[in-house]
Amino acid sequence: MNNASGKPTLFTGIAIYRAALSGALRSPTGDNRLRSVNEAVASKCLEASCCSRWLRRFSIVAAQMTTCAAAVVLGLGCRHTPVRVTALRQARPCPVVPVATAEPTPQQTNQQPALSPTAAPPQWVSPTNLSYDGWIDIRQWARDIGIPSPVLAMAGTNCVAHLKFPMGNLDIRLGRHQARWQECELWLAHPPLFIRGQPCVHAQDIQSTLLPLLTDNGQLPVTNRVIVLDPGHGGSNPGARNIATGRWEKEYTLDLALRLKPLLEDQGWTVFLTRTNDSDVTLSNRVAMADALGAGLFISLHFNDANGRAAESGIETYCMTPPGLPSAFVRGPSETPSVVFPNNAHDAANLRVAFRLQRALVSRTSAVDRGVRRARFMAVLRNQSRPAVLVEAGYLSNLRDARLIASPEHRQALAMAIAHALGVPPHF
Ligand SMILES: [Zn+2]
Repeated sequence: MNNASGKPTLFTGIAIYRAALSGALRSPTGDNRLRSVNEAVASKCLEASCCSRWLRRFSIVAAQMTTCAAAVVLGLGCRHTPVRVTALRQARPCPVVPVATAEPTPQQTNQQPALSPTAAPPQWVSPTNLSYDGWIDIRQWARDIGIPSPVLAMAGTNCVAHLKFPMGNLDIRLGRHQARWQECELWLAHPPLFIRGQPCVHAQDIQSTLLPLLTDNGQLPVTNRVIVLDPGHGGSNPGARNIATGRWEKEYTLDLALRLKPLLEDQGWTVFLTRTNDSDVTLSNRVAMADALGAGLFISLHFNDANGRAAESGIETYCMTPPGLPSAFVRGPSETPSVVFPNNAHDAANLRVAFRLQRALVSRTSAVDRGVRRARFMAVLRNQSRPAVLVEAGYLSNLRDARLIASPEHRQALAMAIAHALGVPPHF
């Protein structure tokens, strides 16, 4: 701060030092705006190659030495015009604030408020004249759609862009696939990045992942209230094995479907099961059954196995990957993203149903939230002519999950969560 005589003081030197440090961290590709130190550090971690990181570190050290010298000179009384000092002190304040953690714990998911099936529909409407391609500056996107500019914060080692919508908060984690919408995890096709110092999200994720959820009107996107529940596996195909009890996935999926059926019938659904006993049913026959019944919705029920990674736990809900997007999970040979499957006609509806189920499941149980994900390999989904999702309701290969899944009370809680998610007015 300058004194009355206009002579710079040590405080002025410190101000110059801080502003110059921000300048030293600016993007090497020519962004001349001063940026906050934390944001710059985050972008350095996420977008730079190993070599450029070292170059940046060198430039930071050089800038620190230079500006320290300037601060000392100014503090000792060297006279400069106050104009430059004022300009530096008015540099944009750092918007970054610390937050505790990006990963929810089971206890945290337990503390989430109960969902209301009759919640008011969202009040935000996306502009229809927006056309994006490639990477989009998240701040520009916020301006375009008329919401407040995102706040950037550090969560652990990740920078997170917090966006506020009238109907909930969207957290976009730079460098990670997992975003968070309305307190539920959501897998983006492309991990958001800092590009030329700006936090960016891919246009494919805006169009195919974010907008379908942000514009959800709160009603179920189904054309009728006939639902086919698909207990995964059966007969000679037992599925995964519970490491706590030795029982098979096929038993738990059938039990869950039988618990869910009366709950849905109480809500006005007409419910069919692809199998009601321990029988073999091909994947194509499960799809054909839904076709023959003219079902409005198809839900396949499974429990997971991490193939020896015992620490993997939690619930995830899958739906089809839209054409052109990479999948969250590829099984077998590499897939061709350009292929269009019959169920891709329901991409937006699939995502809305999957998100509704995932949110209810993790908020009403103690399960870890592994998010809504997309994949193409699931033949029981990709040939469906209606919204269709697949629930992986816990890991039989994880001891904690396995013990929970073995509990009838927990399986009833899973059934009640799914029923709750489908207990909203349909979209017809
Ligand atoms: Zn399975």
